[in-house]
Amino acid sequence: MTTIWAEKIYTGGGFVASVGGVLEVEAPATGEVIAKVGLANPADLEAAVAAAQAAQREWAALPYTQRAAVMARASAILQENPERLTEWLVPESGSGAGKAAFEAGLVASEFAEGAALASQPYGQLLRSMKPRTSIGRYIPVGVVGVISPFNFPAILSARSVVPALALGNAVILKPDPRTPIAGGLILAEILAESGLPDGLLHVLPGGADVGAALVAHPAVPCISFTGSTAAGRKIGEAAAPLLKKVHLELGGNNALLVLPDADVDAAASAGAWGSFLHQGQICMTTGRHLVHRSLVEEYTAKLAASAERITVGDPTNPENALGPIIDAAQLAKVDGIVQESVAAGAKLEAGGTYDGLFYRPTVLSNVPHDAPAFAQEIFGPVAPITVYDTVDEAIDIINSSEYGLSVSVLTGNPYRAFELADRIQSGAVHINDQTVDDEAVAPFGGTKASGSGGHFGSSVNLDTFCDLQWVTMQADIERYPF
Ligand code: NAD
Repeated sequence: MTTIWAEKIYTGGGFVASVGGVLEVEAPATGEVIAKVGLANPADLEAAVAAAQAAQREWAALPYTQRAAVMARASAILQENPERLTEWLVPESGSGAGKAAFEAGLVASEFAEGAALASQPYGQLLRSMKPRTSIGRYIPVGVVGVISPFNFPAILSARSVVPALALGNAVILKPDPRTPIAGGLILAEILAESGLPDGLLHVLPGGADVGAALVAHPAVPCISFTGSTAAGRKIGEAAAPLLKKVHLELGGNNALLVLPDADVDAAASAGAWGSFLHQGQICMTTGRHLVHRSLVEEYTAKLAASAERITVGDPTNPENALGPIIDAAQLAKVDGIVQESVAAGAKLEAGGTYDGLFYRPTVLSNVPHDAPAFAQEIFGPVAPITVYDTVDEAIDIINSSEYGLSVSVLTGNPYRAFELADRIQSGAVHINDQTVDDEAVAPFGGTKASGSGGHFGSSVNLDTFCDLQWVTMQADIERYPF
């Protein structure tokens, strides 16, 4: 386990001491301080932006092959050595071994797609009313500010950092202060080893104050934020008068719809994975199970049995499928939502207990639509079940949420579900899978309170991390009547 970032931030082309001081990183499973990194402050940000602006011009002017080569090398390093990330993801973010391996794989494929993106066509030859060449082409915005959360720290940073760099931008990354290593410093280390020139990537661990300063900085024209809807609203408000290009990937309360013709065994297994993976701390976590009345008893019993079987504990022991909730404040919020929902009429079928930060996978049935477990994003391992009678009623319930990130439909007739997808307000609809999924090539982004601005994924990234410029060119200067 390398710790070359001890008490350091990453800026200007290396790991250096911060003027902001030192940040202690705790393992949520044990409370132990596992590392100390630099804590950035606004003066660090000023220096980073100046260096980024200077380096970006040369980077964008390089042959695309050089940007692609950096990303390809980074992908190879991570494919060959996934432990470079997983050895931090497990203790730092409380990831189970399976989740950590999945996340390292996602980051490796993000780098591979970054390499491909660098060589893709970056514009269109347009038709024109005049005898001229008319082109719509994407040019890098300059410096991209990235703010990321704790839960999937590496991929949620990488899905912005990698395409932004591959397309010729420089990046200032502010990871969550609870996960600065997997969320940033390790990515910087791998990219430096892969030959990323100095000054293009800056990792500034810090809190909301550093994030707010990044959003406000006049030389950072594009902000890519992933986090809560509440913080996203503040960032949107701060960025609007500055007329920045802002991408907000926010919270979710994702429905899993079990149609009457679904295989109940498979549906309950998918539902358990969707609600409990990484302790439910995923934006796409299944937060509402809508089950047809004819299946609800059997589905509830199977989901509760699955919840009872799952092992929870320190994730450094690979026997434990689930680890801790990230901190005490989040655990108190999860438990409060469960207790209030039971008081509002929900029935506790499994879980509802905790030991330290380890919350048992919890199943609630008969959950009223206005109970907090059904109406709010929980961000904990809780599966609230409610019953419906008609498909129209189910679609209305799905769309009644303020969120629109991911919806799943489980059925014996996928084509019927495909037709239903037309009526579902959601950035993603997964037919015959649960709600948690991501691929570097897929367009990812929420609707309604789950997000606004651009999407991530392959060529969609051009729109997100570049400005679209219309260029025309003709042989002679056009003649006008005056
Ligand atoms: P959070 O919003 O509290 O923090 C996320 C990041 O934003 C952190 O780096 C934090 O320091 C920073 N931040 C907070 N307030 C800020 C402000 N005013 N200005 C600038 N930066 C600020 O998020 P959290 O609660 O720790 O993370 C969980 C949330 O993130 C959940 O709501 C989850 O659904 C959401 N999330 C969304 C996606 C997605 O792709 N849509 C992915 C993962 C997580």
